[in-house]
Amino acid sequence: MGHGAAPGLIDPAMETFVTTLRGPAIRPGQEGYEAARRVYNGMIDRRPRLIVQCADVADVIRCVDFAREQRLPLAVRGGGHSAPGFGTCDDGMVIDLARLKGIRVEPANRVVRVEGGCTWGDVDHATHVFGLATPGGLISTTGVGGLTTGGGFGHLTRRYGLVCDNLLSADVVTADGALRTASATQNEDLFWAIRGGGGNFGIVTSFEFRLYPVSMVYAGPVLYPLERATEAMRFFRDFMHTAPRELSAFFAFMLVPPGPPFPEPLHMKTLCGIMCCYCGDPADGEAVTQPLRDFGPPAFAFNVPMPYPMVQSMFDPLLPPGLQHYWKADFVNELTDDLIAGHVKFGPRIPTLNSAMHIYPMDGAVHDVAPDATAFAYRDVKYTHILAAVSPDPAPMPEYREWVRDYWSALHPHSAGGAYVNFLMDEGKERIASSYTDNYGRLAAVKAKYDPDNLFRINQNIKPAA
Ligand SMILES: Cc1cc2nc3c(=O)[nH]c(=O)nc-3n(C[C@H](O)[C@H](O)[C@H](O)COP(=O)(O)OP(=O)(O)OC[C@H]3O[C@@H](n4cnc5c(N)ncnc54)[C@H](O)[C@@H]3O)c2cc1C
Repeated sequence: MGHGAAPGLIDPAMETFVTTLRGPAIRPGQEGYEAARRVYNGMIDRRPRLIVQCADVADVIRCVDFAREQRLPLAVRGGGHSAPGFGTCDDGMVIDLARLKGIRVEPANRVVRVEGGCTWGDVDHATHVFGLATPGGLISTTGVGGLTTGGGFGHLTRRYGLVCDNLLSADVVTADGALRTASATQNEDLFWAIRGGGGNFGIVTSFEFRLYPVSMVYAGPVLYPLERATEAMRFFRDFMHTAPRELSAFFAFMLVPPGPPFPEPLHMKTLCGIMCCYCGDPADGEAVTQPLRDFGPPAFAFNVPMPYPMVQSMFDPLLPPGLQHYWKADFVNELTDDLIAGHVKFGPRIPTLNSAMHIYPMDGAVHDVAPDATAFAYRDVKYTHILAAVSPDPAPMPEYREWVRDYWSALHPHSAGGAYVNFLMDEGKERIASSYTDNYGRLAAVKAKYDPDNLFRINQNIKPAA
C-alpha cells in the first residue's frame, strides 16, 4: 500500500517493513496508538498511519528509506513541543525519537554528546553533576531536537550564545537514508543549515555541544503591580542596556500561580514582572539584581541561589502536556515607547495561568556571531516576544486566540519584520521567509542538495531551490 491507500487494510509492504525494526511500530487500532499519536499541544488531533518509536539510528534510517520509497507523509518528533504540531501528521509515518536518550559527558573536554530524543531536562541532569551546563530552553520538557535546529535560546544565552552556537557537530540522517556528520570541517553547508533551519535537512540523531562551568545560579522573579507596567517596562529596557552578560532577564505579564512561593493575597492576580537568572558567581547575584528590587517596592520578589537545573524546571508545573496552545511572535529591535504602549494595553488581559507574554533578550553573545554565519539570521535585534494563549479548556480558545491576534497586530508594525521560527504556528511561506531574511536563498540551495524532493516538509518548510 503506497500513499493514498485506505488505512486499516492489510499492507504487505508495511507488514514486512515493521519486522525490520527494533523499536515499536504502532498502527491505528493497536494498543498505545491514542497516546502515541498525541503531541504536546492538545489542539492537535492527527491520525498517522504508522508511528515508529525508533530504538536506534538503524531504525531511523530504515524509516526514512521506507517513507521515501512509499511516498508517505513523514513527521519527525523530538520532544513534541512544536505548537503547530509538526511532530505528528495525518495518514503518514511518524518517526518518534523519544527513545534515543543516550548522553555522554566528557567533563575534561567540556563537551556532551546527546541523542536526538533527549529533552533539556535530560541534558541538564547529566551535565550538572559535573558542574557544567550548555544553553538550553526555559522548560525542561522541551526537546533538544526541535529547539536546537531552530536556533534555541535560554537563561545562558546572553552569556554563552544561542543553543545552536554551541553545537560542535551533529550526526544527520538525510533524505537519501545516508548518515552524515555535520561540523565546521565536514558537510559544512549542512552544518550551517541545521543551526537555525529547523528539521528541513534531515534527522539529527546525535548532537555534540560545548559545556561551560555553570552550577549554581542566582535566580527568580521580581513582580510589580500593573499600575507600574509602563515604568517597569522602560526600566527593564534601560537596565538591560547595561546589565552584564551573565544576567539574563525576561519581562512578563502573568497571573500569579496559586501556590508557594507566592503569598496568598497575590494568588491569581495579574501582575507584570521580570524573571532573572544570573550565571556569574552566585555571590554577586544579589548586588547585580538589586536594581530590580530597588525599582520598587515590588509586589513580590523571590531571588535566591539555586542549582541551574532548578531554574530550568521552575515553570514546568504550569505547562503540562495536553493544554491548548495558540502563539504569535516577532523579533524587535528595541523596546520603544510605542511597543511598550501596545504591551500595556493588551498584556494585562492575559487570559489564563498557563498563558504567557514574555519579552526575551536576544543580545549579548547572540550578537557576537555574524547573521550569515549560521542559518539563524536575526543577530542584531534586542528582543523576541511571544504572545501565547494556553488553556486546559478548548471552549474559550476562539476568544483567547483573538486576544493573541489583536495583541500581535498592534505590535507587529513596530517589529523587526520576522519571528523566531520555533515560535511560529502554521503561518505561511512569507512568514517563514521573513524569519530567515537574507539567509533564505542559501537555505533553499542547501535544501535542494540534501532533500531535493522535500521529504522533510512537515516543519517550517523551506522549499528546495529550483
Ligand atoms: C513549553 C515550551 C517552552 C519553550 N521554551 C523555549 C525556550 O525557552 N527557548 C526556545 O528557543 N524555544 C522554546 N520553545 C519553542 C521550542 O523551541 C519549539 O517548540 C521546538 O520546536 C521544540 O522542539 P521539540 O523537539 O520539542 O519539538 P517537536 O515537535 O518534536 O519538533 C519540532 C520540529 O523540529 C523537528 N525536529 C525535532 N527533533 C529533531 C531532530 N532530532 N532532528 C531534526 N529535526 C528535528 C521536527 O520535525 C519539527 O519540525 C518552547 C516551546 C514550548 C512548548
